[in-house]
Amino acid sequence: MSAPPDPQERFVVELANVRGELIHLDQTYREVLSRRAYPEPVARLLGEAMAAAGLLSSILKFRGSLILQVQGDGPITMLVANASHDQAMRAVARHEDEPVGEGGLPELCRNGYLAITIDPEGDRDRYQGIVSLDRPGLAEAVDNYFSQSEQLPTRVWLACDGKRAAGLLLQRLPGEDPHGDADAWNRAEQLASTITGDELLDLDSREIIRRLFHEETIRLFDPVPVRFHCSCSRARLAAAIQAMGREEAESILRDEGLIHAECDFCGQDYTFDAVDVEQAFSAGGSELPGDTQH
Ligand SMILES: [Zn+2]
Repeated sequence: MSAPPDPQERFVVELANVRGELIHLDQTYREVLSRRAYPEPVARLLGEAMAAAGLLSSILKFRGSLILQVQGDGPITMLVANASHDQAMRAVARHEDEPVGEGGLPELCRNGYLAITIDPEGDRDRYQGIVSLDRPGLAEAVDNYFSQSEQLPTRVWLACDGKRAAGLLLQRLPGEDPHGDADAWNRAEQLASTITGDELLDLDSREIIRRLFHEETIRLFDPVPVRFHCSCSRARLAAAIQAMGREEAESILRDEGLIHAECDFCGQDYTFDAVDVEQAFSAGGSELPGDTQH
C-alpha cells in the first residue's frame, strides 16, 4: 500500500528561454507532520518551505543539499527545510508556546530572516545568502532573495493547505534570448502569476503547464520522485555532544548514566554511554564513535 512518490516536474518554455519546476508534496509532507505536531499556521509555512527547498534544489549543480532556514523572535523561532541533489527532503520547525495567529510572515517570525545555504558534499565551500523577512509571504521572501543576489531572474509561487504543499518556479535561462524576444521573461512571469494556490495544489503538473502556457512551446522532462529521508547519523549526534562541551556532557552522565540525543528532524533517538562520550572527546572530532553500541 505504498503511495506513489511525490513528483517534481521540469519543463522549458522554449521561445521564452525560461525553465520551470513544479513540485507536489503529499507523502513527503505527511512524513514530516507525522513526526511532530504543529499548529496549523506553522504546519502551512513548513509545507511552503519544503516546496521552496525542493524547487530551489534544482539549482544544485553538484552533489550536496540546499538548506532553507527561517529564523525569528517568535512565535516561529526556527524553521528548516533541506532538499538534496537527489530530492531527499526533511524539515522541522520550532515555535514558542504562545498562540500562533494567522498573520503574514512578519507576524509569524518577528524580526526574522531567511537564509538559503548551498552545502556541497566534499571539499567545496558552502555558500549562504540572507534576506530579511519583511515580505507578506515566503514566496515573496524567496523572490526578494533572488532579486538581491546576482543570480538569474527567478520567481516562485507556493501553496500549502496543511495537508499538501505545492510550488512553481520559473527561472530565466542564461545567455541572450535566442529569439530576440525581449519581453518573453515578463510574459512568462505574468502568465505564471495567474495561478491560484488552490490550482497549484489541486491540478497535476501537466495540467498547470497546459493552462498557463498553452500558447507557448513547452519541452517536458520526466518527473523526478521526491521522498522523505533524514541524513542523521550517530556520528553527527556525537558531534552535537562534543559541541556541548566535556563538562556538561559528564554532568549529564553523572546524573542520568546515559545521554539521549534525539534527531530534531526524524525523532530517532541515539544513546551514548560513558565510553561513547569519552571516545567522542578523546577523538577530538576526527574519529567519532561509529554505529556500534556498547
Ligand atoms: Zn534524523
